[in-house]
Amino acid sequence: MKTGPRSGLPAVHRILDLPAIEALAAAHGRTAVVDAVRRALDQARQRIDGESAVPATDLIVSAVARHLSDTLRPSPRPVYNLTGTILHTNLGRATLPEEAIAAMIAVARAPADLEYDLAEGARGERDHHVLDDLRHLTGAEAACIVNNNAAAVMLTLNTLARGKDVPVSRGELIEIGGSFRIPDIMARAGAKLREVGTTNRTHLRDFAEAIGPRAGLVMKVHTSNYTIEGFTAAADERALAALCRERGVPFAIDLGSGTLVDLARYGLPHEPTPAEAIAAGADLVTFSGDKLLGGPQAGIIVGRAALIARLNRNPMKRALRVDKLTLAALSAVLKLYRDPDRLAERLPTLCLLARSRVDIDPVAATIAGPLRDRLGDRARIRLVDCASQIGSGALPSRTLPSRGLALEPTAARREAGRALARLASDLRALAIPVIGRIESGALILDCRTLFEAEGFVANLAGLATLP
Ligand SMILES: *Cc1c(COP(=O)(O)O)cnc(C)c1O
Repeated sequence: MKTGPRSGLPAVHRILDLPAIEALAAAHGRTAVVDAVRRALDQARQRIDGESAVPATDLIVSAVARHLSDTLRPSPRPVYNLTGTILHTNLGRATLPEEAIAAMIAVARAPADLEYDLAEGARGERDHHVLDDLRHLTGAEAACIVNNNAAAVMLTLNTLARGKDVPVSRGELIEIGGSFRIPDIMARAGAKLREVGTTNRTHLRDFAEAIGPRAGLVMKVHTSNYTIEGFTAAADERALAALCRERGVPFAIDLGSGTLVDLARYGLPHEPTPAEAIAAGADLVTFSGDKLLGGPQAGIIVGRAALIARLNRNPMKRALRVDKLTLAALSAVLKLYRDPDRLAERLPTLCLLARSRVDIDPVAATIAGPLRDRLGDRARIRLVDCASQIGSGALPSRTLPSRGLALEPTAARREAGRALARLASDLRALAIPVIGRIESGALILDCRTLFEAEGFVANLAGLATLP
């Protein structure tokens, strides 16, 4: 950590005495500023070792300011998701309605009746905050809320099928991104996977043979991220539920992306709902809070009261439970479902899904000009038709017609790949990073998920105009 004449760099205390740095210390505290000064000098020293000249003091000062703002910026931070994938797992899936945001803020700021029964003045149940709404919306008797749907599946298997067999159709042994594989989750939950039928066809009689005395649970998994087409067959849910009841084995359906309304109502393809699964006779249904439902990350389990009570008694529930922020947001989102007529206006996820190309086109057109101004002749910018995806595995074979911009670097063909990567990384380096998708030599900015062109354009000011 020697700084001084040998490297030609000023000492730490000299930098700290500069008025600009003193101002930073007054604003952010001396400790953080000293760290940032050390980092800036270390970096400068490494560059000098690489034969470059000693940087001017003002360059060191701006490096200190940069380090400081990097260190102090909260993370994760908001980005523009123009990838065309609406529920993008890496970008945090559903964005919340204002009602849910307000509810989270309210309980973040103050103590809350999280596990407290106000009528009795005694200990209450955490999940009861969403119980009435979930009963109403799914027709189930009871509900249990955990960290995410992977946890919901894990808790269900571990509670009902530890050391027992779980028959599952071979056509449903899915992998969801991020190492969620049904066979692996089964193993970790201590359940024994019993594969039934074949990849393309599974019949009721296959289950009838597989459900023996060692079966703890029969599970059906909604193949949410792929489709099998052609010569296919799956056991009918109602018939399977009846068979399970006859054999005295609980029947669970993992829906993945549970939507609480019929999407066909909003001009979208139908996606199975928990209410349908319960009506078909499922004893438990698991689904995500932050996929099509449009709420916070959570795993929701609804079903028979006696089974939910067993889940709640499993010590794992304690490890997988959600906090007051999640419950507040989930509760607020579920309330919106009580008024399906206005849901498409109030729930951002549904609003994005239902948005038409005609509505998206003007936004794309509005941002095209300012982008051209900023990028100059670095890139050709065209308004294009594109296809949005729902994402998070929901309705995998369906895309939604959308409008966006295609940015193609003007660099010579040899350089085109690098120029494209550079363009994408410059947009990601903005104060609010802009994330698109690269497709056949162009950066596509799908505008389905962009409403406020004004803010987007203001943010572009950070883009260096190149000669
Ligand atoms: C997405 C999904 C999961 C995992 O849900 P998370 O909320 O991501 O934990 C499990 N099963 C199915 C069928 C899914 O689609």
